Amino acid sequence: MRDARTPFVAGNWKMYKTVAETVKYVKEFRALVKDIDGVEIVVAPPFTALHAAAEAARNSNVGIAAQDLYWDREGPFTGEVSGAMIREAGAEYVIIGHSERRTLFGDTDATVNRRVAAAFAAGLCPIACVGETLDQRERQETFDVLDRQIRQGLDGLTSDQLAQLVVAYEPVWAIGTGRNATPEQAEEAHGHIRKRLRQWFGPDAAALCHVIYGGSVKPDNSASLLSQPNVDGALVGGASLDVRSFLEIVTKGRDAARRR
Ligand code: PEP
Repeated sequence: MRDARTPFVAGNWKMYKTVAETVKYVKEFRALVKDIDGVEIVVAPPFTALHAAAEAARNSNVGIAAQDLYWDREGPFTGEVSGAMIREAGAEYVIIGHSERRTLFGDTDATVNRRVAAAFAAGLCPIACVGETLDQRERQETFDVLDRQIRQGLDGLTSDQLAQLVVAYEPVWAIGTGRNATPEQAEEAHGHIRKRLRQWFGPDAAALCHVIYGGSVKPDNSASLLSQPNVDGALVGGASLDVRSFLEIVTKGRDAARRR
């Protein structure tokens, strides 16, 4: 159980890294971060490497996340993986509703909602992704989109669950494009999300819920993004695939969050 908004930095590996590559990375990375405190560090390998990653990270300060889950516990759902299976493999977190899942694989706010509930039921910490497209931003619909994604995606959660949740604000136009939101744009969206969480789940839960930023986070911008008062961490795609660059993002982000 978290009782404070300790900075949270997660690496989303997407469909990269074999089991052997995962084990090599995690062994090297855990040694580099072993004395780094004041930040929650997570990596999300593909399903095939989850168990090996969890074994390689055992008794370290590196947590393991899956990149998705299915909401039923078991059944005739070819190709799907349940929260219980992910938990048994040794992961403690799961990314839900990433924009690639929404645009390429049909995830909706309704399915995100089922997955978030299933994650809690399985004892996993959900990292629930929200964010607007470029068109939506240009039409000034960003806040409406975020409101809908949060309202529907988190519908039915208790305040206690909300307090343990991680919301990842990932503007779709910033993912994998090299074009990150400015710290001011990120803070504006995060502040809005926090305001809604306060309205819908109460001030105590909203004060504990992490709202992290994702979209072209790199070693040279993690400090400015994490220096913002409502940016509680980062979800990092491409730059998390390299041990040294992810390490730099973690340390610079943590240091900036400490100074704010
Ligand atoms: C992501 O995949 O969640 C992401 C933010 O990717 P990138 O950092 O590569 O933009």
